[in-house]
Amino acid sequence: MGSGYRGRLAPTPTGLLHLGHARTFALAARRAEQAGGALLLRIEDLDAARCRPEFEDAALEDLRWIGLRWQEGPDVGGPHAPYRQSERGPVFLATWERLRATGLIYPCDKSRSDVARALAAPHAEDDAEPIFPPELRAPVGAGRDATSPGASNWRFRVPDGETVRFEDALRGPQAFVAGRDFGDFLVWRRDGVPSYELAVVADDLAMGVTEVVRGADLLLSTARQILLYRALGATAPAWAHAPLVLGSDGRRLAKRSAGLSVRELRQRGWAPEEVLAAPIDRLLG
Ligand code: GLU
Repeated sequence: MGSGYRGRLAPTPTGLLHLGHARTFALAARRAEQAGGALLLRIEDLDAARCRPEFEDAALEDLRWIGLRWQEGPDVGGPHAPYRQSERGPVFLATWERLRATGLIYPCDKSRSDVARALAAPHAEDDAEPIFPPELRAPVGAGRDATSPGASNWRFRVPDGETVRFEDALRGPQAFVAGRDFGDFLVWRRDGVPSYELAVVADDLAMGVTEVVRGADLLLSTARQILLYRALGATAPAWAHAPLVLGSDGRRLAKRSAGLSVRELRQRGWAPEEVLAAPIDRLLG
């Protein structure tokens, strides 16, 4: 445990753990073990309407069943408790405050329909991720004197045209252009809940995570999070994005495709090592 490597598993308990998540988490556990490091488990339950305690219990049980063990977490405690994001409000608020002090975030009163209208411009590409229209940005300096987020959305002003680069341990060099691949992103919601980007960065920093292992669906988020680390004057962790598990039709497996939940596969008699390594078509058959 003395290597200094700290990895994490960060399940979101909105449904049963599915095969793709299980394989990504197993990879995270393997990398921590190979590095002789520690692994922590953090429950990402900020979406109160969709997260449920029974899914948290099921995720922990399923992770144990596939053979994973962690040294810190909601069920085992640890120096960075609590390990449930729903209980970590003060950490997120302190991070909001630090970001506000940089002048890089601003309160945003634009509604979904304002954004949709601006995006209806002819250049908007259909399948690209919608970019927050720069013409809807608040003026520089807006929100500078706010003492709390209040009932506003807050966004991070991205440095338009800057290429954000990082090295991925599994995929090699990555590059995304701010303002083209992603735009001003939410850091805080008007309902008082931090965004995923803010919460994950605040927690990975507070918990001393040295390498983030997660699915390749979060590559763009990594570019956003690198900007948050920089704004906070902090060093970003290392990154490893696992390939997404695809069904035989080449499409991503949805979390709710119940047939491929770890639980269902277990009930059908598959062993943990098959769930983690067998070709998808065999498990589906
Ligand atoms: N909680 C996210 C998920 O379950 C993962 C977030 C992350 O690893 O940064 O998809």
